[in-house]
Amino acid sequence: MKEKCGLFAAFSNSKTDVIPLVTIGLRGLQHRGQEAWGIATPTMNPFKQNGLVTDNLDQSALVLQQMKTNVAIGHVRYSTAGGTSLSNAQPFSINKKFCIAHNGTVCDLNSVNTKLTGKKPRRINDTSIVGKRLLTILKTNNFDWFKSITLLCDELVGAYCFVILTPNNEIYAFRDTRGFRPLCIGWHKKSKTYLVSSESCAFSMLGAELTRDVNPGEIIKISNKGLESHSFSRGERTAHCSFEYIYFAHPSSVIDQTSVYESRRKLGQMLAEMYDVNGDVVVPVPDSARPAALGFSEKSGIPMVEGLMKDRYAKRGSMRSFIQPKYKERLKINRWIMPVKSAVDGKDVIVIDDSIVRGISSRAIVKTLRNSGAKSVKILVTYPPIRHPCRAGIDFPTHEELIAYNTSGKNSDIETINKKVGKSVNADFVGYNTVENLSAGIGKKSSQLCMACHDGEYGVLNRNLSNENLE
Ligand code: SF4
Repeated sequence: MKEKCGLFAAFSNSKTDVIPLVTIGLRGLQHRGQEAWGIATPTMNPFKQNGLVTDNLDQSALVLQQMKTNVAIGHVRYSTAGGTSLSNAQPFSINKKFCIAHNGTVCDLNSVNTKLTGKKPRRINDTSIVGKRLLTILKTNNFDWFKSITLLCDELVGAYCFVILTPNNEIYAFRDTRGFRPLCIGWHKKSKTYLVSSESCAFSMLGAELTRDVNPGEIIKISNKGLESHSFSRGERTAHCSFEYIYFAHPSSVIDQTSVYESRRKLGQMLAEMYDVNGDVVVPVPDSARPAALGFSEKSGIPMVEGLMKDRYAKRGSMRSFIQPKYKERLKINRWIMPVKSAVDGKDVIVIDDSIVRGISSRAIVKTLRNSGAKSVKILVTYPPIRHPCRAGIDFPTHEELIAYNTSGKNSDIETINKKVGKSVNADFVGYNTVENLSAGIGKKSSQLCMACHDGEYGVLNRNLSNENLE
């Protein structure tokens, strides 16, 4: 199972009921997972629902009102395998000893499970396997949580963040040593509540402040003694997921001290410097490419118009096509991207997109713009060509599904990929970004980022590979 997902946790020093904070926090992370959500309290009996936090609100509100507690963890789920049933929704209770929720992918499940049972896993569920393995380690280490989590992380290969709730009203949160997925700490002043979240946008929804990131290789404990920290990092180089910055994260979030919005805007400016293309209007693909389109427009002087809109009044209009698990679902959502004819009719249109993964959306957008009278459609893309599956938690399942690999293989130069992908999606021109521009736009060295879906360098998933071997 691969999990993208969003994590949230709250601990109130003033004994305030944190369930409303967790519920709103999960809504703030809804862009990270739209299939299911759940909240666990110290009763160790998690409440879970399919769909969005706001679906079936009346029914959920009744249960949530009865869950009063000053400490809780929550999860929104996006799966790419392993089924979408409620039984896979998180948090999980591990033998009623603790509850656990996860964001990321653990790659060496077989070895973790072999240590646990001596057998390969029958049902692939990394969160519950890791939870059970942690319980075994805790039992042999006198429930010393810092030591046991450190021992657990020595065994794990992959990209992961976890939050854990114990029956003693303590929260533990930890992040892998490469820092693939974001995780941060916040403070809600009014209720004197510590918060942990996958992204800081959830704090903004609550009027809470971002305190700091959980560092790669750091375990945070929150209890009535306050916040404690323990590091298990060995100085590994980081591998922050570059795709978070251009697509997955909310634009209002700040991740590892970098504003997602400003990164995207700068990437648009850099595309304008890189590609001298003519056009009458710049059109963002809604919603994640909007800041990049603004940056492109600022730099090129070509006006930005809203030539494509999501139908926000359709039930699925606000949902994100990329994270829908089934092809049919993605096609349904693409139908809810509507052209604004008056903005593109008779114009040479420059479309700014964050990425081209399978090419389904790009093909649909080119078609809809041409049908609306666009004279030409050129697409510029802030992320370099995606040629490899992600093994760190994002759904790029096979090489064959990836349009850049499918049309151009894994070693073609960027001009060749531009031409072949452009032809495949029926655009007049496609121009991808480069790795150098991407890292400059994000403001981090490429050696601090993961770009495995572009370059196939999966070594970053193994913390035991030395920094030198990964340069
Ligand atoms: S392979 Fe790509 S999507 Fe996956 S973690 Fe690395 S940069 Fe992110």
